Amino acid sequence: MSKTLVTRTIGHFINGGATPGRGGRYGEVYDPATGEVSARVSFAGREDAEAAVAAAGAAFPGWAATPALRRARVLFRFKELLDRHADELAALITSEHGKVLSDARGSVTRGIEVVEFACGVPHLLKGSFSESVGTGVDSHSLRQPVGVCVGITPFNFPAMVPMWMFPVAIACGNTFVLKPSEKDPSCSMRLADLLAEAGLPAGVFNVLNGDREAVDALIRHPKVAAVSFVGSTPVAESIYRTATSEGKRVQALGGAKNHAVVMPDADLDQAVEALMGAAYGSAGERCMAVSVAVAVGEKTGDALVEKLATHLRGLKVRAGSDPEAEMGPLVTREHLARVKGYVEQGVLEGAKLVVDGRGLKVPGHEGGFFLGGCLFDRVTPRMRIYREEIFGPVLSVVRVPDFESALRLVNEHEYGNGAAVFTRDGDTAREFSARVQAGMVGVNVPIPVPLAFHSFGGWKRSLFGDLYVHGPEGVHFYTRLKTITSRWPAGVRTGADYVMPTMK
Ligand code: NAD
Repeated sequence: MSKTLVTRTIGHFINGGATPGRGGRYGEVYDPATGEVSARVSFAGREDAEAAVAAAGAAFPGWAATPALRRARVLFRFKELLDRHADELAALITSEHGKVLSDARGSVTRGIEVVEFACGVPHLLKGSFSESVGTGVDSHSLRQPVGVCVGITPFNFPAMVPMWMFPVAIACGNTFVLKPSEKDPSCSMRLADLLAEAGLPAGVFNVLNGDREAVDALIRHPKVAAVSFVGSTPVAESIYRTATSEGKRVQALGGAKNHAVVMPDADLDQAVEALMGAAYGSAGERCMAVSVAVAVGEKTGDALVEKLATHLRGLKVRAGSDPEAEMGPLVTREHLARVKGYVEQGVLEGAKLVVDGRGLKVPGHEGGFFLGGCLFDRVTPRMRIYREEIFGPVLSVVRVPDFESALRLVNEHEYGNGAAVFTRDGDTAREFSARVQAGMVGVNVPIPVPLAFHSFGGWKRSLFGDLYVHGPEGVHFYTRLKTITSRWPAGVRTGADYVMPTMK
């Protein structure tokens, strides 16, 4: 436990302003580079959740009736403010999450891109019209907002993942309650300030900090229409089941174990550089991190492991605020212990630990939650380090004899978020893309995260629900279809008709 005196308490943002809340419980927020407590965060109770949903509910009719163009103008102003404050947001992310500044800045940019997409909402909400579906009868379809939407987000992208959700939701005319991770809550509060400065009416966007109690209150609340969740698979599954049984539409994105298949014909240096960034960037705390490299053929495996080990030994692990840093600390002491536990487990299970990052010391940051990058070779599918998501800087190399075995391995894993293939052969790339069981596929691209105007989501136990986040599927998730059929002139008499109306 830290000796630092905590001076800052992070509350909630409800109905246009910050409020300490009435929950009476608090969590500690750490600076992962020093291991010291930097703030405490209020944990919402039922009363706070009620207040947040009531504010969002009261703001909904006015916001939904605001012309889409005017809603978009608020988002344009928000985007300008985000550009202006991007470095400040990145610094906030680094101070609570630990990732290196340049990486944090990149994640803010990816969030801003969703705002840019949402600025096009008048176009995205354009309906369709069919003239003369009957004599004097026309039909048009339009999409309307669903109501109060809730977003529950993980610790690993405190700006980007919330921005996968709320810009699209509010652009479509919904109001929003965000429950960010309790590990790094400051960024969401700052986003709320910026939205208010951009002119968003009070109550349209609210932040409710807290833990499971806040989540339970939100996902069962009768006034909540839709729930977007991003986090670990057990929680995603449980939230999906509970919230759907309460009649809400739900998209719940879960964990991952992303494989990168390295074929014998791949440009190995390109593949190794790509794998280094994808496995160790953000200390492996990315749902699109590559945590398994599948080497096709023993020769590929030997060369791959040798090159990865050389790069890894030179990886600069420092405080995230150090401009030289390539990898920062893990998010919390508990998470560090968990990831170290997996490394021990891998050794016990008989995998070959080629590079062991457990002894790493970062001078001047002895209390920080640091772990050097770890590399395992000769991992097999039965090992826990292969089956489970580690969410740390640990890369497992699995060796297989041929392409078919590689594809089978990827497809038999319970997760299906992302998958990549490194090859120079077009047939192999095409075959892999067509047959792999994953939502996002990279060909010589290690982290194939779709841009904002496409949609993001995985297959199998990496996503519960039908619609992905942002892009066209995000617009569908946050709207519902209405089709209007009208007859003009109104006075035309057709007589009572007791059979199914058809075109005569
Ligand atoms: P987590 O599941 O522990 O927490 C996510 C959110 O759920 C947090 O807001 C947390 O407060 C809340 N929560 C935690 N336990 C809960 C419970 N029992 N009941 C109700 N709510 C609960 O996830 P995390 O550790 O913050 O984030 C890491 C996980 O998120 C990894 O599994 C990672 O793969 C996943 N992730 C997935 C994606 C994706 O797009 N699929 C993106 C980012 C992160």
